[in-house]
Amino acid sequence: MEYEQKTLTCVQCGEHFPFSVSGQKFFEQMRFTPPKRCVRCRRSRAEGKTEFAEVKCTECGNNFAPRFTPRPGLPVFCRDCVQKQRRASCAA
Ligand SMILES: [Zn+2]
Ligand SMILES: [Zn+2]
Repeated sequence: MEYEQKTLTCVQCGEHFPFSVSGQKFFEQMRFTPPKRCVRCRRSRAEGKTEFAEVKCTECGNNFAPRFTPRPGLPVFCRDCVQKQRRASCAA
């Protein structure tokens, strides 16, 4: 298989970033799935920072920092509420 540099889109900030040939070979060797985030976002995740402002949980009203960009108009749930919902749906 021929390798060539790919351009991927970061799921976090939407920026395009290069996925080098050596990177692809390494990921394939390690059986990793291709990176979803650009270097900057991966680094900020590794440092435990989130680039997102806190949002209010639709359910309980607690402020929390989501690990994703909430879509405007859609409800957002904090981790507690997500777990509660999961438990509820398991019990059903
Ligand atoms: Zn990014
Ligand atoms: Zn909540």
